[in-house]
Amino acid sequence: MVRKLGFLLLFALVLLLLLPADAPVSEVADTLGARFFWEPGRQTGMLSTRDHVFVFKPDVSLGIFDYERLIPSEGVLLKPEGGIFFSEALVAQLVALFGKTDPHKPVVSAIIIDPGHGGRDPGALGRFTSSGESVVIMEKDVVLATALHLYSLLKARYPEKEIILTRSEDLYLKLEERTELANRIKLEPHEAMIFVSLHANASFNTKASGYEVWFLPPEYRRDVIDPEDLEGVEKDVIPILNTMLEEEYTVESIILAKAILEGLDEQLGEHTDNRGLKEETWFVVRDARMPSVLIEMGFVTNEEEARLLSDPEYLKKAGRGIYNGVSEFIDTFERTSGFTE
Ligand SMILES: [Zn+2]
Repeated sequence: MVRKLGFLLLFALVLLLLLPADAPVSEVADTLGARFFWEPGRQTGMLSTRDHVFVFKPDVSLGIFDYERLIPSEGVLLKPEGGIFFSEALVAQLVALFGKTDPHKPVVSAIIIDPGHGGRDPGALGRFTSSGESVVIMEKDVVLATALHLYSLLKARYPEKEIILTRSEDLYLKLEERTELANRIKLEPHEAMIFVSLHANASFNTKASGYEVWFLPPEYRRDVIDPEDLEGVEKDVIPILNTMLEEEYTVESIILAKAILEGLDEQLGEHTDNRGLKEETWFVVRDARMPSVLIEMGFVTNEEEARLLSDPEYLKKAGRGIYNGVSEFIDTFERTSGFTE
């Protein structure tokens, strides 16, 4: 009886081994030599290598390869006990697709630095006393000094990239003028640009202090899906596909924002508070068609922080922190087509 049970177990085991096995996504990533990124809030996953990227959304069984090729992805399975699995057939398809190399490496070809306000718009105002005198501090000056330092660091590190300041002096610009400049730049499909807006904060609570980085869920839609790939796809799926493409900008904006926040933390963390990442839809770069972040460097309404923000050495450190974050993002992007864990 025991022996019979043993045979049965062995038989079941052999059967299991013969069945096509679903592979956990970590194993798929290893097989492809790819990095895996999962955005739980958006239920979107990505596998990326230097040459290719596969974006998938298990809840709608759809995936996009290299932002242009639609791959029905019934093969992506969310197991009820937890974890993402890929069917053997899908793994085989991805192995073939990822095996082809692309002569164009992804590159960040332009960086736009946008010091907020300027000219007749001073931005937030603060005050502190220095050797008995009351000193006024203006947001437009804080962000310009920091932007100029950031510009020179980026220019030295990336002489081949376009580094653009929306203003390099005390000048008034309309909001559209800031983003128009960015949207005018023409890019090849493998090229990207990033937009970094600099601001300083104000609050009625004079104790509020610290830096924070905002990212934007973008509205921009890229028209990259080949209609031929859409044959047989139901029409109501197209908006979902568009959303998936938009996710790319959001994910990249989040990664950029995180890197900048870390950079600021390293440089300014001992002086003031890290207020974290924030998400908003209203800020200046809402028309910018690219990964975009807005940095609030600190509060001019906090007397102690106002004193720091008026110190050129402190602003250099802030510029260094932002630079470290931006270059970390660029290096990752150019190594892995834009995504990292
Ligand atoms: Zn501002």
